[in-house]
Amino acid sequence: MAKITLQNIQHSYLSDPKTDFDFALKHIDVVFEDGGAYALLGPSGCGKTTLLGIVSGLISPTSGRVLFDEQNVTHVDTIHRHIAQVFQFPVIYDTMTVFDNLAFPLRNRKVPEPDIKTRVLEVARMLDLEEGIHQRAASLTVDGKQKISLGRGLVREDVNVMMFDEPLTVIDQNMKWELRSKLKELHQNVRTTMIYVTHDQTEALTFADKVFVMYEGKVVQFGTPVELFEKPGHTFVGYFIGSPGMNILPCQISEEKVEFSGLPVKCDNQTKNLLGIQDGVMTTEIGVRPEYIRFANQGIPVKIRRVDDLGRHQLVHTEHEQHDIKLICPEDTPIPDGSAHIEFDAEHTFLYVNQWLASEDNSI
Ligand code: ADP
Ligand code: MG
Repeated sequence: MAKITLQNIQHSYLSDPKTDFDFALKHIDVVFEDGGAYALLGPSGCGKTTLLGIVSGLISPTSGRVLFDEQNVTHVDTIHRHIAQVFQFPVIYDTMTVFDNLAFPLRNRKVPEPDIKTRVLEVARMLDLEEGIHQRAASLTVDGKQKISLGRGLVREDVNVMMFDEPLTVIDQNMKWELRSKLKELHQNVRTTMIYVTHDQTEALTFADKVFVMYEGKVVQFGTPVELFEKPGHTFVGYFIGSPGMNILPCQISEEKVEFSGLPVKCDNQTKNLLGIQDGVMTTEIGVRPEYIRFANQGIPVKIRRVDDLGRHQLVHTEHEQHDIKLICPEDTPIPDGSAHIEFDAEHTFLYVNQWLASEDNSI
């Protein structure tokens, strides 16, 4: 096992990259601590698979270094990095039995047969694959086959990191939940570093202790699921995490005040130093999650457009001068008809400058 460090990694698939647009990964600096459960979360095309390829050695980065503990492995072959990977589609031998599939990586490494048997049975038990262990893998459902792919990584004791690239894509909706919880449990048992790649926030937030949110070749935030929800460091995180995501509204900076549509709004990260922000030159926005807006006697006037019943909550779609603003209210909240006023919870309202959370000193 090892701590994995990616230092100032950039990667372009072009032979002669010129601008930022030519790079699939732009300045990635990340550390995966030994034994952690991590997720890389982001939309399709943001660079997740490229990043995994750089960790595994399938891709040699255009610049930057990859360290396993203190050892520079940037130019070390995949096979010598001791990596286990699970892909979208199961990679197994259909004609072999389940047992032989699981034993394969160990036989390859010349592990003695009695040790193989013990280890394979142990892993088969963890994955509920004991029944039918001597059947051909071809007879299994796709879920079962994907469990074998997982098992082939788990049997090995020389693995530095297990990586999963959208492993539940082919899994049936009901089984997804089961396999997701299984993975979490496996991590707690084996404590190997795991990196789980997905575009699905539920998968990322349930599996991982720490999540890297990626967007356009960059890591825009690294944090616990709670941190990503409570204090998005970038408007993309606000928008991408949550259902629905954060309300992102244009705002103006007027002297020392933040204004939305001419009305003053208090933000948690508002400082006295707002004069440093040149409105117009920079994009200034406020972000507030639907969970942190409520109806009030005064505040921002809105029209109620629609109410969706979400069971324990109601999702209220409102509008203020062409701006859609969504609220989530408990099921028993009376919803005004037609027009109303709303108020943002100042502790959960944030100012963003050029999409980034404005810092205390506005040095962005
Ligand atoms: P993700 O896994 O997040 O969907 P990828 O890492 O696959 O993203 O892709 C990141 C970017 O790199 C995308 O713009 C994609 O089109 C591009 N890309 C990925 N693989 C290749 C390749 N083999 N050749 C050229 N461009 C690629
Ligand atoms: Mg991918």
